[in-house]
This record gives sequence, structure tokens and C-alpha cells, in this order.
Amino acid sequence: MKKIRLGIVGCGIAARELHFPALNELKDLFEITAVTSRTRKHAEEFARLVGNPMVFDSFDELLDSELIDAVDLTLPVELNVPFTEKAVFKKKHVICEKPISINVENGKRLVDLYKKTSQVIYIAENWRHIKKFYKIKDQLYKIGKPLFFTWNIWVRLDVNNKYVRTEWRQKPKHIGGFLSDAGVHHVAAMRLLFGDIKWVSAVDRKHSDYLGDSDFLSALFEFGNNVIGNYVVSYSINGEEKFEIIGDKGKIKLIENKIIVNEEVIEIEDGLGYKEEFEDFYKVVMGEKENNLGSPFEALKDLAFFEAALKSKGNKVNISDII
Ligand code: NAP
Repeated sequence: MKKIRLGIVGCGIAARELHFPALNELKDLFEITAVTSRTRKHAEEFARLVGNPMVFDSFDELLDSELIDAVDLTLPVELNVPFTEKAVFKKKHVICEKPISINVENGKRLVDLYKKTSQVIYIAENWRHIKKFYKIKDQLYKIGKPLFFTWNIWVRLDVNNKYVRTEWRQKPKHIGGFLSDAGVHHVAAMRLLFGDIKWVSAVDRKHSDYLGDSDFLSALFEFGNNVIGNYVVSYSINGEEKFEIIGDKGKIKLIENKIIVNEEVIEIEDGLGYKEEFEDFYKVVMGEKENNLGSPFEALKDLAFFEAALKSKGNKVNISDII
């Protein structure tokens, strides 16, 4: 099987703790041949961890090295668009961490480029590879017509949290800080269940002084299939998670990896989707399937939810007016 020679760009938490363990299980598909990061020492440490690929001082040198077929971008979000553009210009395929960009206007540049180029641009949204959401979707028929969906997520991040301590999250250039950085996962999962979102009305608040931007959002919205959604998320307050779909003939709850469909309990063995995401990227590069799960346009729609929500200030904003 032909291996994709991969250059990893940005040797931080995601590269080290999320992408490398997945790639380590996919050695028949990928070979990490080159790495670069802002700080050479971090690139060298990462290189030692992954098997001593070539370390480059800059992204340009890595791109010109002839050692790679594709780049894996695990960078501060504001670099996603310029780095992807550069890689595509150099005829490299790209897998780039979510969110697609700092805002919708910036992200549209990648959607436009994606339409024109024969290189693959794959936005890595691992929640589109998590099995439990597909299982829930399969079970929806058991509750009749879905009418209402509510998701309350409380993730108290303290001041010493490793993500909180990254400087680009402390002074975010991406809209809404953690709201969009982590929240695009939630919107990807919700859209996987009910399809595109038509409009949103939300309020946001900043309850902490160390999370960079607003850290609380309460949103009411409507999916294209008329299901009404209610999404409440906080990154500074603890609370009890609630995930519930109400239909005209029953309800579905999700508690961690346990799906409760009316009286029936379904336990799911699930991972976080990183390995599946790279397997999917491989198939897309090899021309074996279409890029439906890493599509920049889908990633843009996830981000657009937050742009609309933050803009709304309690009024109703149509997603189509933003995208
Ligand atoms: P991070 O730990 O700060 O890592 C970012 C890395 O980028 C750092 O190692 C930094 O360099 C490097 N960098 C910064 N500027 C650079 C430049 N100009 N050229 C080359 N390298 C540069 O952040 P992270 O938590 O890994 O997040 C990175 C991306 O992954 C973000 O898009 C984030 O949203 C995503 N992410 C996704 C998940 C998920 O579950 N899917 C989870 C976490 C993060 P040095 O360290 O060398 O100075």
C-alpha cells in the first residue's frame, strides 16, 4: 500500500497528544518524514518522539524539501488559512485542524481554493468520526418526528489547563475564543444529526477573566428540518451535562457513551475519532472516496453558527446571511 509522506507543522498539544498516537497506529498508511514548529527545540523533541524525521527551521523549507506529499497543520487557528494556501500552491495535500479559520470571511478563502484546486484540503473535525452520533441518528426513527433538541455542556477549564495556557488562546484572533475553538465540535455533531441550521439567536457572556474571550453561550436555533435546538455551553462554570432529543413518540438521551432510546439502553464503545479521521483523509487523497467529512464548506458552516450566534445579541440571525 502506498504511504503518504507527511510533514507535521506545529509541534504542540494536538500534534503530540492527538495526531501522533493516531498516526502511530496507521504506519501502513502514513510516514512522518518532516516536522517544523515555531521553536526549533519543540520540533526536535517532537521528532525524537515520532522516529526522527527531518527537522526544518521553517514551513517554506519543509514545503520545498521534496520529502512530503501532504502537510498536517496543527497550528494556532489564525495560521490555518495562510499555511493551507501556501501548501496548496506548492502542490501538497493538506489536513488541517479545526476550526477552519478565525472567522467566516477568512474561511471562505479556503472554500474558494478547495473548489479550484486538485490538491486535497481536509479540515480535521474528529467529531464527524465519532460513532455514537451516527448511532443516535440511526435510532431517531424510534422517537417519531424529532421536535426539540437540548444540549447543555459545562466544561470548567481552570487557569492551569494546558489549552488555557497556550498564548494564542489567551489572546484569540478567532471569533469567540473557546466558544468557536471547542464549539465547532458540538455544531458538527448537531448538524450530523439534524442537518443544516437556518437561524440562531443567542447571548454570550464572559464569566472568567482568563479564558481570552466570552466563555458562555446560550443559543436557540432551528434546523432545516424544523427541529428547534437549544445549546448552552460554558467553559468556566461546572454543571450537569444534558443531551436530549424529544420526538412526538419518545425521547433519546445521551449520557457519555450510553444512548437511552425511550426505555432501551445502548452502550457504545467509542474513541475520539482521530484515527478514523486520518484513515478517511488517506482514502480521499487516494481518490477512493469524496471529501464529505473533511470538506472546508462543512467546516465553514460549523464556524458560521458561532459568528451568527455572537452577532445576534439575542436577535435572530440567518446563517445564510453569513455564509
Ligand atoms: P498549541 O499547543 O499551542 O500548538 C500550536 C503549535 O504551533 C505550537 O507548537 C507552536 O510552536 C506552533 N506554531 C506557532 N506558530 C507557528 C509558526 N509560525 N510556524 C510553525 N509553527 C508554529 O495548540 P494546540 O492545542 O496543539 O492546537 C493546535 C490546533 O489543533 C488548533 O487548531 C486547535 O483548535 C486544534 N486542536 C484540536 C483538537 C481536537 O480535539 N480536534 C484538540 C486540541 C487542539 P512552538 O511550540 O514550537 O513555539
